[in-house]
Amino acid sequence: MTSWIEVSEQRLAGNLRALMESVGAETEVLAVVKANAYGHGIELCSVALARAGVPWLGVADASEGARVRRALDAAGLARIDQPAILAMCGFLPEDVEAIAEHALTPVVWTAEQVGWLQGSGSAVHVEVDTGMARQGVHPGAELVDLLSEIQAANLLLDGVLTHFCAAEVAHSKLTQAQQWRFEATVAQVRDKGLAPRWIHAGSSSSVDNPPQDAPWLAKLAKTVGARPMVRCGIALYGYCLPIEQGRNRASQTLDRGGAQTALRSTLRPVMAWKTRILSLRELSTGETVGYNATFAAPRPMRLAMLPVGYADGLRREMSSTNARPGGWVMLRGRDAVDRRAPIVGRVSMNLTMVDVTGIDGLHVGDEVVLLGDGITADDHARLAETISYEVLCAVRAG
Ligand SMILES: *Cc1c(COP(=O)(O)O)cnc(C)c1O
Repeated sequence: MTSWIEVSEQRLAGNLRALMESVGAETEVLAVVKANAYGHGIELCSVALARAGVPWLGVADASEGARVRRALDAAGLARIDQPAILAMCGFLPEDVEAIAEHALTPVVWTAEQVGWLQGSGSAVHVEVDTGMARQGVHPGAELVDLLSEIQAANLLLDGVLTHFCAAEVAHSKLTQAQQWRFEATVAQVRDKGLAPRWIHAGSSSSVDNPPQDAPWLAKLAKTVGARPMVRCGIALYGYCLPIEQGRNRASQTLDRGGAQTALRSTLRPVMAWKTRILSLRELSTGETVGYNATFAAPRPMRLAMLPVGYADGLRREMSSTNARPGGWVMLRGRDAVDRRAPIVGRVSMNLTMVDVTGIDGLHVGDEVVLLGDGITADDHARLAETISYEVLCAVRAG
């Protein structure tokens, strides 16, 4: 085993509590565990979140839904006590059997999908496209037709949802327009005489950066006697997108008097990605390190070799040259103080060198933190010019 992850169930539950407090008592949180729980392990996280009482788990597809259902069954949770499982990202005819077998609730938005489910008696959630143009039926005639198809196919309309495309943008006009379209949608559903149990919209950023009219969703759900719900993923795992000032100033993050919103100041990273020192070596001045010799020792140095590289999800953008610092890892010497060890030279496929000069008492086999406290997925993301989501999903431990 060259690297491993440690998942803190305590922090996962703590982050969920922070989200629940932020959304308020009348709104529920759907816990998104798609993409193997953002790289954290879908079985472990689903069971922990189910035990913490979430009413819904959100997966990408039927095969993830099957994994979650088996994990919940194996954990001894009675079916009646288990959260419902929403398959959020579409399905094909060959998935219908698994949807029925594992009692998954698919998100639907086309008549074709409704046709595939005909006779299954499945509950469904209808997604409405209010501006994402990825999945979802258009409000208006298309929606009304789809609702008729659902009724004719004897499926249960259990929920109606939409997804915001700019939830992390402060005072977003796009979000506001999407909110208006969703309001019109819910009115259409009501006018059709349908009473879904759930109305859901929004993600972690919607909790971190609530729309101007914050109780909007709860008010909207009330108009059809439904329960409001926000679908949260990244914040459960301890991260949040920076709040942005709008499309034209996209790189500027919003200063909210210290840039820490109430939510994000309480979130803690759930994943620690760790490895061990594989070997240690001394370098004399002028010796170069790694492919293309991008780094030369400016003075005598001590390096540790780590058995991880970009094949394991350690981004190559973490590499360094003498002119440009890169990423770092955290390790603990004899004095039990956690210290940064900068990456030197290029991250290669399976190996990475770090500078441990001056850290006393290190040995081959000592533990190293690649991601976690002291080196977050946001740090990796900044260097790799991406988002924490992609960093977390890419971690391949084992
Ligand atoms: C992934 C996803 C979410 C969760 O988004 P986060 O930003 O991780 O909170 C919510 N809704 C849908 C439809 C998603 O696909």
